[in-house]
Amino acid sequence: MTPEEVLKLAKENGVKIVDFKFSDLPGTWQHFSVPVHVLSEDLFSEGLPFDGSSVRGFQTINESDMLVIPDANTAFLDPFTNIPTLSLTCDIAHPGRAGSQKPYSRDPRYIARKAEDYLRSTGIADTVFIGPEAEFYIFDNVRYASGDNIQYAEVDSEEAHWNSKGREDARNLGHLMNVKGGYFPVAPSDTYQDLRSEMVMNLETLGITVEAHHHEVGAAGQCEIDYRFGTLLDTADKLLLFKYVIKNTARKYGKSVTFMPKPIYGDNGSGMHTHQSLWKNGQPLFYEEGSYANLSQMARYYIGGVLTHAPSILAIAASSTNSYKRLVPGFEAPVNLVFSQGNRSAAIRIPRTESPKATRVEFRPPDPTANPYLLFSALLMAGLDGIRNEIDPSQYGYGPVDKDLYSMSKEELSEISSVPGSLDESLKALENDHAFLLEGGVFTSDVLEKYVDLKREQADQVRLRPNPIEFSMYYDA
Ligand code: GLU
Ligand code: MG
Ligand code: MG
Repeated sequence: MTPEEVLKLAKENGVKIVDFKFSDLPGTWQHFSVPVHVLSEDLFSEGLPFDGSSVRGFQTINESDMLVIPDANTAFLDPFTNIPTLSLTCDIAHPGRAGSQKPYSRDPRYIARKAEDYLRSTGIADTVFIGPEAEFYIFDNVRYASGDNIQYAEVDSEEAHWNSKGREDARNLGHLMNVKGGYFPVAPSDTYQDLRSEMVMNLETLGITVEAHHHEVGAAGQCEIDYRFGTLLDTADKLLLFKYVIKNTARKYGKSVTFMPKPIYGDNGSGMHTHQSLWKNGQPLFYEEGSYANLSQMARYYIGGVLTHAPSILAIAASSTNSYKRLVPGFEAPVNLVFSQGNRSAAIRIPRTESPKATRVEFRPPDPTANPYLLFSALLMAGLDGIRNEIDPSQYGYGPVDKDLYSMSKEELSEISSVPGSLDESLKALENDHAFLLEGGVFTSDVLEKYVDLKREQADQVRLRPNPIEFSMYYDA
């Protein structure tokens, strides 16, 4: 879409408000709005001032004057507002003359743009296709408090609510799913068919092409909706729109959606497996008939790069303290740094296919708390590093391993490296191993330092608080 077309869209739809959205450093949409008369074609080159000082990971108070520069390609009419509202996703820049403002180095979109430029500059490929699969839980009630006295959250899904407590206005009609039993009996066990369908219809109206929706394994309302892969920046933009649509569609029905990786102890967590493939001149580069999993040598090097740098990447891919409660054996989440054709406990799975175009690498550790711009960029940078340095995963003990890793003996497992056990460990790994991210100026030391600071503050928040289970283990000590 051109700026002119955006203005036309606004006019034809009686738009009254224009909403500017951008990603903060952790990867959450932030926004502010203006009346529609502020919208002009010039705004798309001049930008609009805002105060960047209170945005997580952005500026300090002494240099808070920033600009949002809306990207006309991201325009959509917001289906969740009562007042007709046009939404635009924005880049962030320092104030300057129209067209030559300096992009802001901590803007996640800018990092994603640089990653795509860098890929082209290497000549290895011109396009990376990314397909994220963000899982989530739908709940009826969420009670939590962040105050000093209450240290835990409590959630009720529709099923769990009926199961454990009953409800005055609802009877328990029996079609309850067992733990890990959500994949995927039909209604009446699956109570969310229509809700997911409505989410899908909203997504498609807003230009996100959906491939499938289904209940996931988690019994207490875990779901998955997959949208079609695309280029790096576009797919990251779409992920934030995806979360917005999923959460707000649920909200309309008095439900709450969470993308946190492990909301329920003892049942599956929510991942965001990320599929990747490199292309050049419209041709896929990861396929070679007859080799292991039909992978080309380039794909193997890409895998080698991703697995070698995985501990560091996990600081971005599994970016919350809660992420590491998901990355444990027994829940289809990855625990081992190996690649494998069929294995869901491996960090990299190669989905079975005979199609050169569909041949791709699925990196399984990420979860939806990751900032998608940073995640997709970091994965690409690691893969390119593997290609440049010809890191064949087999030479470094990264597989392939096709056995069930969950049932391997201690001795067998001792040969294999595993994912970091905590956010702290991943942050340390990122501090020690990030030169591959700085190549071509894609990431800067400044943004990585700020990111580590932010995440360490979160880790401290958790580390300093007594955990409910500690009462059961130690109260009576
Ligand atoms: N929920 C699982 C995870 O945490 C993945 C299930 C699947 O393979 O789709 O990654
Ligand atoms: Mg899934
Ligand atoms: Mg998957």
